[in-house]
Amino acid sequence: MQTNFSLAQLADPRVAASEKILRTCVHCGFCTATCPTYLLLGDELDSPRGRIYLIKDMLENGKPATPEVVTHIDRCLSCLSCMTTCPSGVHYMHLVDHARAHIEETHRRPLTDRVLRRVLAMVLPYPNRFRVALAGAFLGKTLLKVASWTPWKGRMATSLTRAVAPRVAQRAGLFERLRAMIELAPSRVPNREAYEAQRLHPATAPRRARVALLNGCAQSVLDPGINGATIRLLNRLGVEVVLPKGEACCGALVHHMGRDAESHAQAANNIAVWTREIEGEGLDAILITASGCGTTIKDYGFMFRDDPALAEKAARVSALAKDVTEFLSDLDLQPARETGLTVAYHSACSMQHGQKITEAPKRILRGLGFRVKDVPEGHICCGSAGVYNILQPEIAGRLRDRKVGNIARLKPDVIATGNIGCITQIGEGLAAQGSPVPILHTVELVDWATGGPLPEKLQAAGITEGRPAAPVLAAE
Ligand code: SF4
Ligand code: SF4
Repeated sequence: MQTNFSLAQLADPRVAASEKILRTCVHCGFCTATCPTYLLLGDELDSPRGRIYLIKDMLENGKPATPEVVTHIDRCLSCLSCMTTCPSGVHYMHLVDHARAHIEETHRRPLTDRVLRRVLAMVLPYPNRFRVALAGAFLGKTLLKVASWTPWKGRMATSLTRAVAPRVAQRAGLFERLRAMIELAPSRVPNREAYEAQRLHPATAPRRARVALLNGCAQSVLDPGINGATIRLLNRLGVEVVLPKGEACCGALVHHMGRDAESHAQAANNIAVWTREIEGEGLDAILITASGCGTTIKDYGFMFRDDPALAEKAARVSALAKDVTEFLSDLDLQPARETGLTVAYHSACSMQHGQKITEAPKRILRGLGFRVKDVPEGHICCGSAGVYNILQPEIAGRLRDRKVGNIARLKPDVIATGNIGCITQIGEGLAAQGSPVPILHTVELVDWATGGPLPEKLQAAGITEGRPAAPVLAAE
């Protein structure tokens, strides 16, 4: 694609990087075929190619973002399916990240939108605040249930809306977004797990590696059992796990909202924390159990490429960052029980498109005796995408239902995935349809199959312990 940036514009490293990306696009449009929003909305401007044109025009002309550009960029899930499809290697992720930051800098959103985004940015990355917010969501859930009780349905919702909803809020879709937020909240917040109080988790077999594990933000509140299972599993395999003091949100949540200053501050904090560990007792890897976070941490090197103080450290952190299934695929995993379960494997977009990890999780599960099935239309997002399911509830809901329908066709005993956002989104879809099929993180199944305890979610679904394993189970 030909570009017409001035030399003065190209002096800005962000513009220079985007110009390079724009020049790789050859307008072929292959990417439109695998873009979820184009699939649903059929509008070229809601396709990757259309968005690339909008971004080019906005950046090239040095214009503030227009409401039209904002609408179409906001509808993008950052699922990166287009990057997997693109034959020219267009780095859409860096381009849309730049566009989102440009929107934040040049466009004034409606008040309700600004407030909601600020609240999300101030709450979600901070586990203690998020925990308190979830308590409020319980109240909201109860009110929603009362409002949807059949005799009142419609009448009560209408009078409530008339009574409390200022017109401006309705126009901005605030109530749909609040409803989405409330519906996504779990009906019970799990208790904190004991492992969180302990910084160092020594290997219980001869030590073969030392890793830092990202405890993160939302996942540590919504499902602390995931990292509990990870630590237990790794320790059994001879891996020492450290939860470095001071580590916090990786910055992905605010990064996807274009809030660069906040995301860079959060990332810089983690780089400092992990650098202390690397230069202290040393790390063989930095492990991540939420693929959305993994994609961002692997991009720290790019984020800080022009920062003389952090560039090298950020690149080193990115090089050490691994999804837990990447790390596990190099270890010798032996089944301890025959589970006999059919697993629908949902590959999170950040796993398959963001990090290009497609086979490792399935290979591990198959090696442990699970019958693993791929979800039809597996390249299409479930609609979670960070806070997308709150900010764009209508599109997210359609993608969720499509995903749940595709999973149901496999008739699985259990669903496995590697991202808390997908677990929450698909879990909500399953609950809405009255499906009893549990959704777990891949590592929880691996922990159980190799000798860990039966996960609570499997117990609740009536799945029992399984028989002791035969020595080696054949892959499907
Ligand atoms: S990131 Fe996903 S939603 Fe956005 S343009 Fe690419 S394929 Fe479409
Ligand atoms: S597939 Fe790649 S090169 Fe073709 S239009 Fe899409 S982004 Fe551009």
